[in-house]
Amino acid sequence: MTQTLLNELRQQLGDAAILTGVDIEARYRKAYFSAEAENTRPLAVVRPRSTDEVAAVLRLCQRYRQPVVTQGGMTGLSGGALPADGELILSLERLCGIEEIDSMAGTLTALAGTPLQEIQEAAAEKGFLVAIDLGARGSCHIAGNVATNAGGNRVIRYGMARQQVLGLEAVLADGTVISSLNKMLKNNAGFDLKQLFIGSEGTLGVITRVVLKLEPLPSCVQTALCAVASYADVVKLLRHAQRRLSGRISAFEVMWSDFYTFVTTRLPGQRAPLPVGSPFYVLLDLQGSDAASDAALFEMMLEEAFTAELIQDAVVAASDKETQALWKLRDAPGEFPLAWPTIASFDISLPIGRIGEFVEALRPRLDAEFPGCEVVHFGHIGDSNLHVCVHVPGSTDATFPEHAIKDCLYGLLRDYAGSVSAEHGIGTYKRDYLAYSRSPEEIALMHTLKAAMDPQGILNPGRVLP
Ligand code: ZN
Repeated sequence: MTQTLLNELRQQLGDAAILTGVDIEARYRKAYFSAEAENTRPLAVVRPRSTDEVAAVLRLCQRYRQPVVTQGGMTGLSGGALPADGELILSLERLCGIEEIDSMAGTLTALAGTPLQEIQEAAAEKGFLVAIDLGARGSCHIAGNVATNAGGNRVIRYGMARQQVLGLEAVLADGTVISSLNKMLKNNAGFDLKQLFIGSEGTLGVITRVVLKLEPLPSCVQTALCAVASYADVVKLLRHAQRRLSGRISAFEVMWSDFYTFVTTRLPGQRAPLPVGSPFYVLLDLQGSDAASDAALFEMMLEEAFTAELIQDAVVAASDKETQALWKLRDAPGEFPLAWPTIASFDISLPIGRIGEFVEALRPRLDAEFPGCEVVHFGHIGDSNLHVCVHVPGSTDATFPEHAIKDCLYGLLRDYAGSVSAEHGIGTYKRDYLAYSRSPEEIALMHTLKAAMDPQGILNPGRVLP
């Protein structure tokens, strides 16, 4: 039966669109931070070039009850796009390109497989900002950003991917094309159907086109790194900066002492702009359009914070190069594998006021259960998003107690009513912990929606929902 399916796919899309056997390169089976591809055996890779071809693929898969896993740039961190044995990989890498920039409407329309950076650069050429931004910008695809409701570094000002999407086109499991390419900021005509596909990680449909909202392009940036004595002062600094900069604060990234010390002493090519030893470091920036007045306002905000003893020390970037050097610290997690061969990494969220005490409660639990473990804490604290990375020295892939670490951390998080995923999604890695953050009634409604939109369960089976 699978042979018949493959023959029909070849007939409809052409031989070049289907890869099987040794032609399925390792990149289709590799997790972003893994050195090696997974040892799974997907049925084939199919690479459609149009929405009609995506619809044709799904119609056939529905008929043959063939499970499908949709892939973008393979930069996801929750395992949702990694194929299981026998699954058909639906890669959207050839469904790419920017179709329109509508300067009057302030929108950009792009096909699913367009890399985020290409979209950002095309918008910038016309004087616009695409506000979705994350470290993987060069290789992630826009439909993957939308399907996972990506977060990133600019959420405090512009919101997550969900807030940047005005319209989209998606293909349902039975091949029906839902064209919802809205360009209006206000549109209350019935259900907002696009929201079903945003953040549902490809389980309810396959996104093929996206209409993004464009923002005015900032032309200058003020960046500072501050040393802060306590978590209470971190939150006071956040509120002070938001008030003084009238909502134009564009990043508020917090690094605990453990993160700052690890990055500046253990990773190659990193230096410490402020001495190690402060309990907290805050990287914050203001993006604007008038360098002189923005700089004056930014300095006044910092001076007031000094006077109020919210910050103990600070360094302000005086050039683009210095700005990049400060961000290099915060972007260091991409290099953690250089020092740590095994890592459990988390993207959790909690109410902002409770993140400090959560970290204090977590430390002794991890120390007791995993003696000698190394832990770093950092995150987009202005967005209530904490990242935690845990390494156990001497462990290998085979001996690393990842599951026990998850049980420990998520168990505490459940007591705090936090979320097991702030921005990376559930995928397969966190599926077993969904119930830690969602009620049985919420999960039952998710299953109801899944059954209505994908009755055969062919789209990304086993992802998100337990
Ligand atoms: Zn993050």
